[in-house]
Amino acid sequence: MSGIRPTGFLHLGNYFGAVRNYVRMQETYTCYFMVADLHALTTLKETKELKGHVRRVLAENIACGLDPDKVALYCQSHVPETAELYLFLNMLAYVGELEKTPTFKDKVRLQPQNVNAGLLTYPVLQAADILLHRATYVPVGKDQEQHLEIARNYVNRFNQRYGEAVFPEPYAFNFGEELAKVPSLDGAGKMSKSENQMATLYLADDDETIRKKISKAKTESGSGISVKTNGGEREVLGGKPESVANLFQLLKLVSTEDVLQKFESDYQAGTIRYGDMKKELAEGMVKFISPIRERAEAIRNDEPYLRKVMEQGAAKARASAAITLQLAKDAIGLNYF
Ligand code: AMP
Repeated sequence: MSGIRPTGFLHLGNYFGAVRNYVRMQETYTCYFMVADLHALTTLKETKELKGHVRRVLAENIACGLDPDKVALYCQSHVPETAELYLFLNMLAYVGELEKTPTFKDKVRLQPQNVNAGLLTYPVLQAADILLHRATYVPVGKDQEQHLEIARNYVNRFNQRYGEAVFPEPYAFNFGEELAKVPSLDGAGKMSKSENQMATLYLADDDETIRKKISKAKTESGSGISVKTNGGEREVLGGKPESVANLFQLLKLVSTEDVLQKFESDYQAGTIRYGDMKKELAEGMVKFISPIRERAEAIRNDEPYLRKVMEQGAAKARASAAITLQLAKDAIGLNYF
């Protein structure tokens, strides 16, 4: 089980952190993937664009290879059982604990004028999404690891308090060795939907935009030793400054081992030409992104198809949710006859 918020265009981080794993999981597991529109309300004040974003996320997921006949692909608000389970889990969630969650602190920093209770209880709603299907594997990027730990706390509290093992513990899942964190093009943290559009490669970017963003990415002539910026010591990744390490990490996603090795040895020898490396990266990204973009565009314009996908997905998700809610209510004791 996993979800993506419809707060903007999908980017490479969403693909490598989440969707790529969804596509592989659909072959072996019973899967529930949703567009997290209720989560989006915690940060969106203006909802005019929601419809377009929801359709885009659905279309882009399908364009990446997700098959709505193999999985339940649905919209969170179409499964009202989510809200009921969220209410039950709120009784097991401690305010002090939620206030300490780093993602909450980040959001308070980003939107100090809108610190709503939904923002605080975001991890509770996310736990409800997962536990609604009693899911065990949750394909997400590294940024979500802590939310999974919170969800496991609720599982254990629920099972202990109500004396029945209704829920299994969910774990973050990735087919690779570790959870993905796709860096941004400016070397300042992870790629994200909203922070810096020039530093983010979207699955909807056209070829020229991809080339332009990559050619403008800054590099530093790295010596392999930490770089001082504004009086502070900048983090060094694998012996490289961030704005070089990020390009290597991105190249690794779309290039061959040989090409990567060539630039790695040039870097070590101090003869690396960043212009050449960026060209290689840009062409790799164009080749990777353009077929997804074209497929997504066609799907996005097919409204009857998208409507059918949503309805079919909601029906599958609600069937699974109804069983879980009955188990949860029985365990809590909300059955009087
Ligand atoms: P969001 O866009 O925050 O709704 O996240 C949707 C999914 O994409 C979650 O599983 C995230 O962990 C994943 N994700 C978002 N940004 C990145 C990134 N830069 N690297 C890896 N995974 C990411």
